[in-house]
Amino acid sequence: MREAPVGLITSAASEELLKDRRAETVSTPWGNAPVLTGTIGGREVVVILRYGEKLTLPSHKINYHANIWALRELGVESIVSQNAIGSVNPAIRPGDIVISDDFLDKTKSRAQSLFDESECWVRVDFTDPFCPRLRTELIAAANKFSNRVIERGTFVCTEGPRFETPAEIRAYQREGGDIVGTPLIPEVIFAREAEMCFASIAPVINFGAGMAPAVVHFGPGSMNEIYYKQGLHDLIEKTLIEAISALSTERSCNCRNALVGGFHGEPPAWMKAKSCMV
Ligand SMILES: [Zn+2]
Repeated sequence: MREAPVGLITSAASEELLKDRRAETVSTPWGNAPVLTGTIGGREVVVILRYGEKLTLPSHKINYHANIWALRELGVESIVSQNAIGSVNPAIRPGDIVISDDFLDKTKSRAQSLFDESECWVRVDFTDPFCPRLRTELIAAANKFSNRVIERGTFVCTEGPRFETPAEIRAYQREGGDIVGTPLIPEVIFAREAEMCFASIAPVINFGAGMAPAVVHFGPGSMNEIYYKQGLHDLIEKTLIEAISALSTERSCNCRNALVGGFHGEPPAWMKAKSCMV
């Protein structure tokens, strides 16, 4: 039986990472989603460049519905989400890699559910917000290349596109946040509602506002320098190749049954054709 392709949502995919690349467009109930298909570590993958090919889409303008459903249409069962983030926790420093196990949703205008425009709604369990199986596999891969892997952390997802204020960072610290960034919600929610596995790998490239003199995007000591010139980009790509090539084909987790017992109303036709519970 053909292995399911692995989904990767990221900001860029280099030629070293993604081989045999092809640009495709997937039709979804929310419009067309551009994707890249190819191989990573010998495994078939579908890549979503979440900010667009030329980085023109900020997090609050991404068509999350179309992106997640395009992956599902192409047979993806497991999604790895990669994005560089800031630290809220003084013990987590630029250069660390965080595999989050929880999140705080601080977004303001994002869609709430994959089923927002349908005549039904779902209540989905988020006791394990990220897929435990996929997290374990990402941690194992990252530990092969770095001794600075943080195996748990609470991801604070903010609306952006501006950076946070010092007061916001202090509030997130009090609430138990560890890292902060803009593109997690609603990816992680929609993936669960589509009964797909989802986990996040997040390289830390700055401290939050008030924890350092400034949040600097480019130049000496900047986020860009930490990511590219200090080797974090190469480290992440090596980790992704290792993780995806070794990814288990058995889904020992419960993500595939996420909607069982949670549906209210009649599931939409696009979901009926794909869900294991209807
Ligand atoms: Zn899972």
